[in-house]
Amino acid sequence: MSDQNTFVASPEAKGKAKQFRIFAVIAWVLAMAGQAYAIFNLISDETLVWLIVTIVVILALAITGSTLWKKANRLDPASEKDQTRFFIQNQLGAIMGVLAFLPMVILILTNKNISGKTKGIAGAIATVAMLAAGVTGADFNPPSVEKYTEEIKQKTAEAKLAGIDTDNVFWLKEGTKGNKYHAYDDCRYLKGKSVSSGSIKQSFEQKGSSELCKICQKKASKAAIPNEVEELIEEQ
Ligand SMILES: [Zn+2]
Repeated sequence: MSDQNTFVASPEAKGKAKQFRIFAVIAWVLAMAGQAYAIFNLISDETLVWLIVTIVVILALAITGSTLWKKANRLDPASEKDQTRFFIQNQLGAIMGVLAFLPMVILILTNKNISGKTKGIAGAIATVAMLAAGVTGADFNPPSVEKYTEEIKQKTAEAKLAGIDTDNVFWLKEGTKGNKYHAYDDCRYLKGKSVSSGSIKQSFEQKGSSELCKICQKKASKAAIPNEVEELIEEQ
């Protein structure tokens, strides 16, 4: 499936994804360091409060890491061809989230020097944090090269039907919430912003999955009606 229709992340998208991945790894390393610190210094009756504070910090780091990791995967997804790699790349956030707590959970629950109360409180909080990190780190709808390729095909076909010039669409270069492409460069969302243009496929390759802006969609459907009416008139 490596023809010219296959999704290939642009160099910029790959660069950005790499940045996100580096920050994700840093967050996970810090989470692991936090766990090591907690294991060696904080599993005792006297330091329960500090143990809980550290668990919260580790959880925040684990979630930050997996959020960045998933963002990177959306810009530069894995291929489904290699199933093992596909699974690990998309679920690494869940794996790291669990690993950031599992040794600590085991060591709290098997510790013989702390009271039952401390064990109960610390064990419960660490277990809940582990589950939270695991669930938020998992990707339940992982992106893939194949999915994007299929999506590009579908969206291009839909846009063509709506009368949109699918080789000349527009999108914001920088930071957008949810990726949108626009059929018209005078759309109000593009006003005063730095805009890129190209095909729908290119909008995917630069920004990850991309969707037609609602305002442009309305405008296109309005513009398409007269054409259809004209065609009907011509046919008669
Ligand atoms: Zn628009």
